[in-house]
Amino acid sequence: MQLVTGIAGAGTSSIVDSSSDAIIGLKLNGEISGWNDGASSIFGYSAEEALGKNIDIIIPADILQQEINILKDLASRENTRTYDTARKKKSGEVIPVQVTLSTVMDVKGKVTRISKLVREITTNKSNEEKQSMLASIVDSSDDAIISKTLDGLITSWNSAAQKMFGFSEEEAIGKHISIIIPEDRLEEEAVIIENVRQGKKIDHIETVRCTKNGDRISISLTVSPIKNANGEIIGASKVAKDISDKRTAEEKQAILAAIVNSSDDAIISKTLQGIITSWNHSAEKMFGYSEHEAIGKHISIIIPQERIQEETMIIDSIRSGKKIDHFETVRCRKDGSKINISLTVSPVKNSRGEIIGASKVARDITDKIEAEKKRQLYIEKLQELNVFKDEFMAMASHELKTPLTVISVNLEILKMKMEGDSNLSFIDKTETQVKKFNDLINNLLNVSKINAGRMELDLSHFELNTLVREIAADLQLTTHQHQINFEPDKNICIVEGDYRKICQVMINIITNAIKYSPNGGKIAVKVKRHDGQLLVSCSDNGIGIPEKDLENIFTRFYRVSGIASSFSGSGIGLYISSEIIKEHGGRIWVESTPGKGSTFYFTLIPAKVPQ
Ligand code: ADP
Repeated sequence: MQLVTGIAGAGTSSIVDSSSDAIIGLKLNGEISGWNDGASSIFGYSAEEALGKNIDIIIPADILQQEINILKDLASRENTRTYDTARKKKSGEVIPVQVTLSTVMDVKGKVTRISKLVREITTNKSNEEKQSMLASIVDSSDDAIISKTLDGLITSWNSAAQKMFGFSEEEAIGKHISIIIPEDRLEEEAVIIENVRQGKKIDHIETVRCTKNGDRISISLTVSPIKNANGEIIGASKVAKDISDKRTAEEKQAILAAIVNSSDDAIISKTLQGIITSWNHSAEKMFGYSEHEAIGKHISIIIPQERIQEETMIIDSIRSGKKIDHFETVRCRKDGSKINISLTVSPVKNSRGEIIGASKVARDITDKIEAEKKRQLYIEKLQELNVFKDEFMAMASHELKTPLTVISVNLEILKMKMEGDSNLSFIDKTETQVKKFNDLINNLLNVSKINAGRMELDLSHFELNTLVREIAADLQLTTHQHQINFEPDKNICIVEGDYRKICQVMINIITNAIKYSPNGGKIAVKVKRHDGQLLVSCSDNGIGIPEKDLENIFTRFYRVSGIASSFSGSGIGLYISSEIIKEHGGRIWVESTPGKGSTFYFTLIPAKVPQ
């Protein structure tokens, strides 16, 4: 054992030797003159290796100059110095150390040597580092980390706690933890503290806490006991994670699940390979398979054999991202019976937007189909009755026509025989009524023909201005209250059509203009070329037609409500007129203002003949 002369006499040798610290003697020129076992174990050099060497073998190059300065300083001033620095082991590893340098003097008081005590501070240092590392972790954590005494007094409060609960560190420390516990959950704290007292950790309990402004937040809580150096439990550390988002997502999911389960429609999901992955309550009821029986099976368990190819079509559509909307088809139940359903199938995507399956919503449409069948049946029955009614009308009208013709002829003979008789006016009145009767029968016969699709056009070429002029003139003779003005087109207007039927339309429209203008007034009738067509119009200043009736006015037997008491009529004339015009390839319509009057229009196609 070599020792530094002057720092260790015989009495101190064993102390120096047994020390775990390195005790090194130094000459003023830096040569190592003493090296104990502690130095060997810290630096890895044996005494033989170290003695006589310069002290720089254990000093990292970058602090060498600094060390030389310290030594110089020390030698000139006789004192002791302790400082934290680094030293280098034989292996090259640099370690943190605490160095205490003392000067050794001779009898005359001159510094002859320096003794150096080197203590490894690796453990101390790393504890400090660990602590500061922990502090920074606590502070940078997104979770609220809080510590409290066993009485519930807050002793630490990190910045996430500040953010989560709204209390600053100053506001929270020293307060009772109940500042963040909702009143209805205060008893939780007693349970937590009881567990902590018994040294138990509480892991991830999901609960609710409140913020400074009273908002409730969902958190996941982990509470662990804090022990002192003697192992006694002195408090608790709480880690709180805000799970409000997770809660909201869970709540949304629960709502969706409830909707799916309470739906009257069967809601099923399946993979792209057709394997059933979910099956709601209504699917169980509709198809007879329990959820347990259906999940994991192929969807073909509910597809009738003859419709199995539909599945390929559906899956192809889903793969290309297309939805199938209200596809009416048939599926089968567990007992083999068939069920009519309307199917809506949508793609199911994963979080990356890839299609991974399909969701099917199936609605039982058996009732709808039954109702549709019944409706169809009613329509057919109605059509049958309609045909029967038309046949009856045709037959009755026909049968009425014969006696009516006889009456007309006899009236004519009577009229001739009674020439000059004062009672002749009775014959005239009877003749007028017979004519009305005759018109009505003709109209009913026309309706029957139209309904039976038997309206035949007797085509010829005629000039439209002439036709309209003649009818206007004839009808002028029937009224003194009205003045019928006719404005023809300046050119000849040849039409190829059924002359008698176009006359019938014209008579109907002008007669209506007279009838529905009870106070008289002007009636303007015009023929005009317009957009390559011939446009005929008839305007009156009569009672007009309410807007709601305009679209029905050309319907069979339709009359504006409330007019029956003031105006006689059957609601057939405009229906027949519109059918005649349509049959000629034209259009008929009306514009009207109640109380001001109406204008009826119809168009005809000019004949393709040189004009
Ligand atoms: P009718 O005149 O025999 O009732 P129409 O088929 O010729 O039957 O006319 C149908 C309905 O249209 C009439 O009942 C009437 O309410 C309305 N109408 C027709 N022409 C006119 C008009 N010029 N002015 C007002 N209302 C009219």
